[in-house]
Amino acid sequence: MAGGYLCRPAIILFLVAEPELKSPTSQYFQVIKVATAMIILWLLFFFILGTAIGSFINVVADRLPAGKSIISPPSHCPKCHYRLSAKDNIPIFSYLWLRGHCRNCGATIPMRLFLMELGMGLLFTFLYWHFGFIWELAFVAFYCCIFVILAVTDLEHGVLPNKIVYTGIAIAFVLAALGSLFGFEPHYITDLGFKWWAVNAVIGGAIFFGFLFIIVVASRGGMGWGDVKLAGLVGLVTGFPLVFVAMFLAFVGGGLIAGIFLLLKVKKRKDAIPFGPFISLAAMATLFWGKDILGFFLGG
Ligand SMILES: [Zn+2]
Repeated sequence: MAGGYLCRPAIILFLVAEPELKSPTSQYFQVIKVATAMIILWLLFFFILGTAIGSFINVVADRLPAGKSIISPPSHCPKCHYRLSAKDNIPIFSYLWLRGHCRNCGATIPMRLFLMELGMGLLFTFLYWHFGFIWELAFVAFYCCIFVILAVTDLEHGVLPNKIVYTGIAIAFVLAALGSLFGFEPHYITDLGFKWWAVNAVIGGAIFFGFLFIIVVASRGGMGWGDVKLAGLVGLVTGFPLVFVAMFLAFVGGGLIAGIFLLLKVKKRKDAIPFGPFISLAAMATLFWGKDILGFFLGG
């Protein structure tokens, strides 16, 4: 994640600098001041961008499982069909301003809309902080959006829409093929000493897809074909050998939560806990820290 080092040091250096370096007359202070201001502006930019994208994800996650168009009609209250004006559509602020109620009929606006906007804002800020300006930033950000949509639709409706999964698979495959052809490959592949992104992607996809395929056929229930297709997508995106990190995190996370729910008697043994959110979260964590987690297990 070499790119991340581009944006973190300036702020950290400033915080730990010797008092005389912080003196406004030092040249060091002037340089750091400008660099810090730039970074804060970019962090802010990514936060605002994230909240806007979160707002869009809310629309997708609400309309896609219901088979409605994402583009039309424009945003409206689901109860009274009051059409939202621009000032009702500002991410985060509108929800707070309206205190979670429709301006027209007073119906409760789901808290998820607010949490998604805030969460995506924080996620995008983190992505910039973590990766800095390298091309993988766009790649990882795009896949985070896909995984967040799938986690939400699976949690709320128990579906992983094919439209999203297939779009993700197509883009992952085309990108990996182009990357191999033109010689650009993500850090998390090349840093591990591997080449040929497309080959890694296909092997990764086949491993996770095949593994869940066998589980679904053998267990008949619990997991569905949607999970198998999502696993294929995650394998394509993380590639070999990081797909093993994603699988590990998904099963450990899923197992832990299922165990806690059973202990707390929130769910009974035969209730199905959706697995899609765990696969999605595991995929995101693997894109952020997969290389470090793999290194930890291999003792490197
Ligand atoms: Zn309303």
